[in-house]
Amino acid sequence: MNRFSEPLPSLARPAHISHAKHALARLPGSLVDLDASRMAIVFYCIGTLDLLGVLQDQTSETERASWRNWIWEQYAIGRYGTGFKPGPFMSTTSTNSGHDSPHIIMTYTALLSLSMLRDDFSRLNRPGLLRFVSSCQNRDGSFSNTPNGGGDSDLRNLYSAFCICSMLGDWSSIDVECAIAFVASCRTYEGGYGQLPSCEAQGGTTYLALAALHLAPPGPRPRLSTAEKAKSEHWLVHNQDPASGGFRGRTGKAPDVCYCFWGGAALRILGAHDKINAYAFTQFIAACQFPFGGIAKAPGQPPDVYHTYLSLAAAAMYAPRLELSARAYGQWEFGPFNPLLNAREETVRWARSHIPARRF
Ligand SMILES: [Zn+2]
Repeated sequence: MNRFSEPLPSLARPAHISHAKHALARLPGSLVDLDASRMAIVFYCIGTLDLLGVLQDQTSETERASWRNWIWEQYAIGRYGTGFKPGPFMSTTSTNSGHDSPHIIMTYTALLSLSMLRDDFSRLNRPGLLRFVSSCQNRDGSFSNTPNGGGDSDLRNLYSAFCICSMLGDWSSIDVECAIAFVASCRTYEGGYGQLPSCEAQGGTTYLALAALHLAPPGPRPRLSTAEKAKSEHWLVHNQDPASGGFRGRTGKAPDVCYCFWGGAALRILGAHDKINAYAFTQFIAACQFPFGGIAKAPGQPPDVYHTYLSLAAAAMYAPRLELSARAYGQWEFGPFNPLLNAREETVRWARSHIPARRF
């Protein structure tokens, strides 16, 4: 008997909910080693609760208000506009370290987290946000982490800039066509995309590139030719490991559950989601669950909030409904998911209706 025809293990919903809540409860403490990415951790934890459908009814209004306030405390107003910092740093006076500057990836994650928490965005300075995004764009079309070329310049920042413009419904502050040319320059002979031009194709950056191309407003030419699309699909489909059902990030590497998201979401965006084995895919995610909550990158590894969120998001896009019994189906059932912005459709609808400037 093929092991992929075996019953799917349960999704340990209560344990994953506790894992995310526990990580959120520790945030206000002194997790100094996590300072650089604290906003991202908040996003993964709140996102996990949102995906599991418990954020509005299994957390208190006091908790949600304290998480909203924590995010707004990271809102920075500077010479180059307004955005969100990664977290509260030890130094609040330094202006040269980049620590006090808004960060483009953290701004994208903060806006989505606030949308999950149903913030009214009355504190958002929209012109300031547009100015900040513009100040992060480089001459070659790429984007840096912080204004004026600060930090890395790669596809993660470009994707975040496109998500922010898409949520604002305003692309006027950036050069979209120059950014698209930068994305094209990261494409490789395999049909995937590297972090920068001439880099090896990788599942995460391929998702970022394809999502950016599909978020962008229509251009003079199609963003991808039919031949390019077919080649990307082929490379992505072949990154599903036939033995485990999981996805690899690069040719020849071991499967890792976060690539189930990056590869699976990229295929959803291309409309090629029926070309992979969804049952085997979900079996791999199920096998990465840690018995006491959280999901690890591979079976038998320790869990973390990043792999937990991304694997649940992947499962939300590929729950193999027809093959499951009614009971198992209920466990793996999720609300509709938006692969472009990486959040539930309901959350994306909230973002798109509350983040743009009000037109009276
Ligand atoms: Zn991973």
